[in-house]
Amino acid sequence: MVEQVETWKFIEDTERTDPPNKLKILFYTFLFVSLMDESDLYKRWMRLVENLEREGIIKSEKVKRAFLRVPRYKFVSDRYKECAHVDEPLPIPAGQTISAPHMVAIMLELAELEDGMNVLEIGAGSGWNAALIYELVKREVYTIERVSDLVEFARKNLERAGYKDKVHVIWGDGTKGFPPNAPYDRIIVTAGAPKVPKPLIEQLKVGGKLLIPVGSYHLWQELLEVIKLDEDNKIKIKNHGGVAFVPLIGEHGWRE
Ligand code: SAM
Repeated sequence: MVEQVETWKFIEDTERTDPPNKLKILFYTFLFVSLMDESDLYKRWMRLVENLEREGIIKSEKVKRAFLRVPRYKFVSDRYKECAHVDEPLPIPAGQTISAPHMVAIMLELAELEDGMNVLEIGAGSGWNAALIYELVKREVYTIERVSDLVEFARKNLERAGYKDKVHVIWGDGTKGFPPNAPYDRIIVTAGAPKVPKPLIEQLKVGGKLLIPVGSYHLWQELLEVIKLDEDNKIKIKNHGGVAFVPLIGEHGWRE
């Protein structure tokens, strides 16, 4: 009985003498829960990266490091954060998708990115792939997106993740490339085209590489690695097999 009285007394005293304490406790509890969530998401992300490495999809230390630095959950809406470590595409606004981690890893390994390379990405979507590219070249990256809502979505994600001045999201038709920053060492297209867009070959450096899915409008394409051989736009193409991307819509892509 006496103990009970003492407890109430303590609560009363605290409330009377130090009201901001309550706010502090609430704030630290909230911080603790958020940090716990983030570390939990990151642990799951690490496990996925280790699996991709074990399966031989992530081959290089460099790509692994980039994946660990840029977890996918930072580039999806809140309701999908819990599934960001699942190796599947996920919805982003405007009916588009953020690609599956294994697909992104395959393309980044094929790209053989090196420090200082000038890279153009076509299809910014969430901004995730562009942030990964930045980590692999350590040079400003340009990425083009045709849907204005996604330009905003990607910019916000990139800003929150610390890539505001490192990745530039341009609103436009990526099938025409981005001449102001050409020629490129690499062009990485993350949507499926009916054929290789000519402007993209023209904007590559000689010896430069274009990675692009080419095939049908819905579902199936083949991932092509296109190397530019000379100034006359002679190319060599290597086919890396079946992939499934949303359509590349634009002047040198599919009609809407
Ligand atoms: N790379 C993105 C990421 O990391 O989230 C995922 C890209 S998503 C699979 C393909 C994107 O290409 C979509 O956001 C779509 O709006 C965009 N797209 C389609 N046609 C385009 C075009 N002509 N120019 C620029 N973006 C285009």
